[in-house]
Amino acid sequence: MVYEKCCVGGCNTTRETHRLFRFPRNDNLRNLWMAFIVPTNPQLIVLSKEQLLNKRVCEKHFDVFHFGNEGRRLGYSYPSLLTDNEIAHGVPLTATGWDVTTEHNYCKEQNEDDFTEAVLVVRKC
Ligand SMILES: [Zn+2]
Repeated sequence: MVYEKCCVGGCNTTRETHRLFRFPRNDNLRNLWMAFIVPTNPQLIVLSKEQLLNKRVCEKHFDVFHFGNEGRRLGYSYPSLLTDNEIAHGVPLTATGWDVTTEHNYCKEQNEDDFTEAVLVVRKC
């Protein structure tokens, strides 16, 4: 039997000590996970979708904003804490991670109508 373990490079957490989460089925969200995790573990990039869905990422890589009431992980959450430093501080410190996070939050705070309007205004100008 395969021993379940976090697939982030340099992290050896198992389900014995932490919660492990499966890769999301949603393609866009899974690609976002990959953008964070592949730099730490390049072997993941050759895996098929089905193989990826069997991989696990431990809870240490998710910042507190990705957990809702009672510690439930939110549906759109992604693992952005990958280095020891990031895990220690609880915030993403890498340039790549910050860009993705900013963009993600921006989209989340806008509702769809506002976003369409803003695009239209830009086009009129
Ligand atoms: Zn881990």
